[in-house]
Amino acid sequence: MDSLIYTALKKLAKKRGIRAKEVLFPDNLKDDFRGLYYDDSGVKLILINQEDNLEERIFTLAHELGHYALHREFLTCARWTCSYQEDEGHWKTVEDEADSFARRLIFFIKKGLPMNNNPAAA
Ligand SMILES: [Zn+2]
Repeated sequence: MDSLIYTALKKLAKKRGIRAKEVLFPDNLKDDFRGLYYDDSGVKLILINQEDNLEERIFTLAHELGHYALHREFLTCARWTCSYQEDEGHWKTVEDEADSFARRLIFFIKKGLPMNNNPAAA
């Protein structure tokens, strides 16, 4: 079941032109990051920590898709770092929004609801 959800999420990413890739995170990153959404001049990439278990990778991918769906206007490569450093309160809101998006998205996929009814289609 979990691998089906993961596949569904990867398809969803692909449909939106996002490449989802599992990579080995360097030691200094993996305590703080499970995944990363990255948009550099239209090249969209989601990186997922390959050392996490499947359940964690599912949540990470859904969470990063949430950043794409909700925050892609300002989460460009250049602004990513500065929004993180400048305004911790804003950053926390952004992360909470992506988390709740991820929970809804996984719920919809588990229910087998059509993709055009799910929150990622918005
Ligand atoms: Zn996030």
